[in-house]
Amino acid sequence: MMEYRPGEVIVEAGSWGDSATADILRNLPGVPRRTVEDAGGVSASRDTLVLARHRGKFLKQCQGSGAEMCCNYFIASYAWNCHFGCTYCVLQSYLDGSGIVVCTNIEDFLGDIGRTLAESPDRTFRIGTGELADSLALDPITGYSRRVVPFFARLPNGILELKTKSDRVANLEGLEHGGRTVVSWSMNSRRICRSEEACAATLEERLAAADRCRRWGYRIGFHFDPIVHYEGWEEEYREVVRMIFSVVDPGDVAWISLGALRFTPHLRERLIERHPGSRLPWGEFVPGHHGKLRYFRPVREEIYRKMNSWIHECAPGVLVYLCMESRLVWERSLGCGVRDARHLSDCLDAAPLCRFRS
Ligand code: SF4
Repeated sequence: MMEYRPGEVIVEAGSWGDSATADILRNLPGVPRRTVEDAGGVSASRDTLVLARHRGKFLKQCQGSGAEMCCNYFIASYAWNCHFGCTYCVLQSYLDGSGIVVCTNIEDFLGDIGRTLAESPDRTFRIGTGELADSLALDPITGYSRRVVPFFARLPNGILELKTKSDRVANLEGLEHGGRTVVSWSMNSRRICRSEEACAATLEERLAAADRCRRWGYRIGFHFDPIVHYEGWEEEYREVVRMIFSVVDPGDVAWISLGALRFTPHLRERLIERHPGSRLPWGEFVPGHHGKLRYFRPVREEIYRKMNSWIHECAPGVLVYLCMESRLVWERSLGCGVRDARHLSDCLDAAPLCRFRS
């Protein structure tokens, strides 16, 4: 896995008063730094780490909200952008040139979440920090997991998901998590990991990290996303499912999601331009949700049906769900264990707190 070591740190003037700034800089000895009045106008590559204050709300509904089978997920970001540079990453569409940004007012992040959850004590909030950055890739520098995980342990109606392709889990050891943090890994076939996620942790490294978290009592999640349809995909994805359950017990797993490859037309163009060797853009696609290109429905259904059956061969009780798919696709590929969006949301809310039996 490629370690993040910036060539320069840019500190927004207002961030100097935050204790996180000093903590982060202490972890980057010898890296040149300079101060800017407002980090908003900074133009920089991912080699530059930008420390800035976020103004406004941290907690937002996932962009899938409103979809027919929306899982009712919330996102909260304390970092933007990622040095892994996966070829298909949506972040390159809109975060290109902004450096890697870490927000230093982490107390405001926690305060915003705490207030919002307290205002609606009767509902559960599943909140992920891995939408606009990898949740753990920068954790050796920021140490934010050591603040966020114990904070969620004290919230009666919050579930935190740390979603990653890294193996940087050391900070999670010994934390009081109260069963309220799910650590999850994006997974792919060995071939796609090597060709499209070359800077992220290898499959073996991700699973070794999952094994450590499992031993520390965390529930584990897996996201097969994006699943790529190519000749021989079946054997290679099935191998990954088997690898997972040779390491983790089904009872350790909170959920597994499935999502077939999709991208905006703009991202597809960039992929072709920047990664001419990538096999991803070359398939038959149709426009779907939010104008994204994706495989034809029968192809997606075949992918989900097969993945679901391989997972349930190894772990019959594990909760499998689809990301941004219609009810029809759910019914045809998974059967209908989940009745509707509300039922899906309830199942996912409950999953981290109960243990499925194989
Ligand atoms: S790990 Fe995730 S956030 Fe980072 S580049 Fe890959 S897809 Fe993007």
